[in-house]
This record gives sequence, structure tokens and C-alpha cells, in this order.
Amino acid sequence: MKKCKQCGKMLVDDMFRPYYPRGTGQRKTKVGRNTVCLPCEKFNATVNRVWKKVRDGVDISEKEELLLSWTAKYYKKLVDQGNQPIGAYARHVLGAEETRETRKTGVDKALELLDIELGKAKEVKDKIEAEYDKLLAIELTDEPDIYQDMLVALLERSSGPNGKVLPKYREKFEAVARRFDDYEDNYVWE
Ligand SMILES: [Zn+2]
Repeated sequence: MKKCKQCGKMLVDDMFRPYYPRGTGQRKTKVGRNTVCLPCEKFNATVNRVWKKVRDGVDISEKEELLLSWTAKYYKKLVDQGNQPIGAYARHVLGAEETRETRKTGVDKALELLDIELGKAKEVKDKIEAEYDKLLAIELTDEPDIYQDMLVALLERSSGPNGKVLPKYREKFEAVARRFDDYEDNYVWE
């Protein structure tokens, strides 16, 4: 049994798609199972396909509009219930703030503000920049969510007290986000 990260249901393992590392040649080793169940995965795929049309400036039908607006409510409800909806549209609807696994505490934020105001964060910042570079170069072989989670974690460490990514990192953040989104859009499940 395994709990779906998105709908929170406890389901048998077969309800989760197994995934394999890609680009490793003929010898495919099973490395695990997807974090969301198959029904959630199919649901997200449909919603994300419609959402991609919107992003690409393609007209959508009334039904599709309805799908997006109801899905936004649904994703928010799931978050309220302590679940973590995934995918491009969920991220759009929820923003990085709410999809985070761990929230920044008041103390974290206050320390960050001090770091920034007192100019003490230089060392930390340079480390963050190096991590963005790593994400720009990292080989993408696993399920897309793993990389999105890495980016969210790094975003959390490179945001100012207002929760927005600091200007210094904006360009790199956007480059990584574009890279990971493209990967997710073109990802083929084995
Ligand atoms: Zn599910």
C-alpha cells in the first residue's frame, strides 16, 4: 500500500506507475513508483494539456474553461487537506508557496531579512548561485517532479522576506524553471 501524494488515498502499489531511469541503455532497473496514483496522473495530464493550450495562446472550449476553474478549486481543496497536487497547472494555481513541503518559519524569514539587511548573506548567496548552476547542468533522467521539487526547495532558500525570488537570482531561477518545465512537458512515461 502506498499513499498518493495528490489525493491522499491509500492504494495498492499497482495503482502507481513504476518508473525507470532513462538513458541508461538496455538494462532498465526498476527504481520506484510514481508519487501520485494513476487516476490522479491521468487527471493531471488532461488538465495540463488544456493549460498548455492557454499558455500557448490557443483558444479553449467552454468545457475546458470549466475544467480549469473547477480544477483550481479542487487543487486548493487538496492542499487544505494536507495533500500535494503536482504538475504545471497545480503549480500555477497554488504558486510555489503552497506546494512547498516545508514552510518557512517566522524565525527563518526573520533571519533571512537580517542576512539581507546586514549584508551577511554573501556566502550563502554564492552557494545558492552555484546550486542554480548545478540545476542548469544536471542530467534529467528521473520523473519530472523530482526536479521541480529541487527547484522549489532552492527557490525557498533564494527568496526575500516578501517570498519572491531575489532579483540577483531571478534570471537563473527562470532559466532553470524553463528547463524543467520543458522536460516535464516532453516527458514520456515508460
Ligand atoms: Zn491520487
